[in-house]
Amino acid sequence: MADHPQSFLPGASLSYVSPTRQSAWGTYLAQVDRVLPYMGDLARWSGTLQRPKRVLIVDVPIEMDDGSIAHFEGYRVQHSLSRGPGKGGVRYHPDVTLEEVMALAAWMTIKNAAVNLPFGGAKGGIRLDPKQLSQRELEKVTRRYTSEIGIIIGPQRDIPAPDVNTNGQIMAWMMDTYSANVGATATGVVTGKPISLGGSLGRVKATGRGVFVTGREAMRRLKLPMDGARIAIQGFGNVGANAAELFAQSGAKVVAVQDHGGGVYNDNGLDVPALTAHVLEKGSVAGFRGGEVLGLEEFWDAKVDVIIPAALEGQITEARAERLRASLVLEAANGPTVPGADDILAARGVTVLPDVICNSGGVIVSYFEWVQDFSSFFWSEEEINLRLDKIITGALAHIWATCERHGFSLRTGAFVVACERILQARNERGLYP
Ligand code: GLU
Repeated sequence: MADHPQSFLPGASLSYVSPTRQSAWGTYLAQVDRVLPYMGDLARWSGTLQRPKRVLIVDVPIEMDDGSIAHFEGYRVQHSLSRGPGKGGVRYHPDVTLEEVMALAAWMTIKNAAVNLPFGGAKGGIRLDPKQLSQRELEKVTRRYTSEIGIIIGPQRDIPAPDVNTNGQIMAWMMDTYSANVGATATGVVTGKPISLGGSLGRVKATGRGVFVTGREAMRRLKLPMDGARIAIQGFGNVGANAAELFAQSGAKVVAVQDHGGGVYNDNGLDVPALTAHVLEKGSVAGFRGGEVLGLEEFWDAKVDVIIPAALEGQITEARAERLRASLVLEAANGPTVPGADDILAARGVTVLPDVICNSGGVIVSYFEWVQDFSSFFWSEEEINLRLDKIITGALAHIWATCERHGFSLRTGAFVVACERILQARNERGLYP
């Protein structure tokens, strides 16, 4: 399907972005359009979903190691604060744009409501390639960015967390900078922190664990045996690698893995711990000796039962949706499937477990971290994992039942459940003035 200009997208009348059907914000708007007919009287609040509440664009200047001054563009978007403070990660990537961050913020609103966390949705990002920066430069960018967005974040206002190319160290710098600016240690301003600074046990692996748990539940319902299930994973970062480990431990075979550097394939199942060690050392799955080289497009043709996009948006295009051989797609990434591909997969009988539930494990444990920071009372890892399992399986069961009752796809069902909660809150709060 060809890209359509902004005017073809209902509700997309913002002056500052030009989404297309394939772009992240365009994908999000199309997903919202599908559920508005089911919102009844609440549909009068639809504009709440179709535009972000607050957008902040900041200039992030730093002195580089060579003495030059570099300027980076940073964003923090608060899509909705109707159900609570903003919540969502910060991404460092050379392709980050305002439009992308808007979509990622909006998906956080939907995700937090779908699993019923008391948060709105937000996201941040800086357009940079972290591989081009030294540790010192990365720290300076992080601290200056935190200071610039300090006017809208805070433990009760908006709570950042890790996302693509950000981690516990970056969260520690963010917490320290915010704390220095407000004159008090504010651990609850970010989640995904190191344990020594008020981080939560289980947070690092939480997103991958959530992908595994929701995948396991979906497979059980679809009568797809875990033992020997063939799995392909795109992206082998924190999320992809941890999900791979749990699937492999449960008897599934991770046969194909692709990342930014290349792809590997092993018909008998890749040795996941060995692959993880390789990636830690070399930065990519490329060159791993425990499998054959797998070409960029060949990855989508692999004979698998389950495919897990765990990288960036827009990866499952219409053309790839026609080809892929899995019967289940687990969206570990945010926004990996474009709307046209969703239709093709549905017509082909492929089940898509949408991002807003599949990858919600990260923000669920972020919520636990935030609660623990407030009470300064910390839970055991066992307790965290149990509570995560309970929330995510409960949310999935509710969405699955809604879909069976109304004949929705899982994405539409998740959006219906979430949007009802968001618009209900919006309606009850009413308009000021
Ligand atoms: N970046 C993660 C996500 O996309 C986690 C966000 C959070 O923990 O706030 O869901």
